[in-house]
Amino acid sequence: MSSPCIPLPLKTEHSARDRLYWNFFNMIPFLIGSIAIARDSLKWVAVYIGIALFFFLIIEFRFACTHCLYYIRSKGCVKCMMLSGVPKIFKARPGPHSPFEKAMTALGALPMFLFPVYWLIRDPLLLGAYIVAWALFFLTARRYECIRCLNFECPMNRVPAGVKDEFEKSDDRSEKIELSGKELLVSGSGRCSSFKMEHKFKDFLYWNFVTLTILFSAGLAIGISSTGWLLAYIFTVFFHFNVLEQRFFCTHCPYFPTEGKKLGCMMNRGWPKHFRSRPCPPGKFYLAITSLGFLIVIFFPLPWLLEEPFLLGTYSVSILLFLLTIWRYECSRCIYFGCPFNRVPAEVRKEFGNNGS
Ligand code: SF4
Ligand code: SF4
Repeated sequence: MSSPCIPLPLKTEHSARDRLYWNFFNMIPFLIGSIAIARDSLKWVAVYIGIALFFFLIIEFRFACTHCLYYIRSKGCVKCMMLSGVPKIFKARPGPHSPFEKAMTALGALPMFLFPVYWLIRDPLLLGAYIVAWALFFLTARRYECIRCLNFECPMNRVPAGVKDEFEKSDDRSEKIELSGKELLVSGSGRCSSFKMEHKFKDFLYWNFVTLTILFSAGLAIGISSTGWLLAYIFTVFFHFNVLEQRFFCTHCPYFPTEGKKLGCMMNRGWPKHFRSRPCPPGKFYLAITSLGFLIVIFFPLPWLLEEPFLLGTYSVSILLFLLTIWRYECSRCIYFGCPFNRVPAEVRKEFGNNGS
């Protein structure tokens, strides 16, 4: 699903974890920009930081945030997934942005994005990392937050019209959205689980894009010094994902097709299916083999990455983002209950019928 028919519940408030995750994510492109500028002059890094702060705390705050429901609903200081604890120095302005406000926000954002480009174009690797970091930031927000966000005035908002109308009609404007189908409110935790029954092509594109940032940094670090070892790395990665993981982990997953010759999940869509489906949870031995394969794939490029500090940084941050994002947004909606990372609570699994392997 990621279902068009079963929308996720709206996010009425953000937790400290949301703020940590999104601020960490947002800092990555700034860090890459700052590294490029710092090679030349620390003074310009200070100017870059000043431009970013001016955008976030004055321009965006006044011309965009004042129309956002998280800003309007918070008292005294703002409480949202990006900013928290910043005093509401501007008065709230419910309703749409004026064309002047839109123009000011766009004009304020441009210098922030473009400022480091002068230094980045001298180093294609940093420029690539900068573009990928911003692309991943926006793609991830669009996939997982914009579909549940109360900032209905934001141009990136993707909350379906019916859900928005229902929310606006509701009196106390809190968790009043009707849940339907297999969408379940996880009792006590305030967390909601809307099971993902199947993966779409866009899920596959997103997760392979994230995976490629990891593999590319590793492959580049190895390839710089040895083509032979690069081929060995590529073989190890293919062997792990195509044979080892497929046999010992994927065959037990409910997303693994019982019929047909190809896989259809968000990671391996379109890959040939070599084994038959085994609809029962994987045993400890199988999990141990899969984990060992993963550890080999992760640590294999380390000796080469240690020689290339920037690629080591990109590799470590990409792995961290991969794990954090999948854990936050996928493992809580995944029907593979036999996976050790699965976060669907026991009572919700029971309600679902414990169908997941
Ligand atoms: S709709 Fe998306 S981009 Fe806009 S404020 Fe909400 S989460 Fe941020
Ligand atoms: S629980 Fe998470 S890690 Fe495990 S199969 Fe599902 S999405 Fe992947």
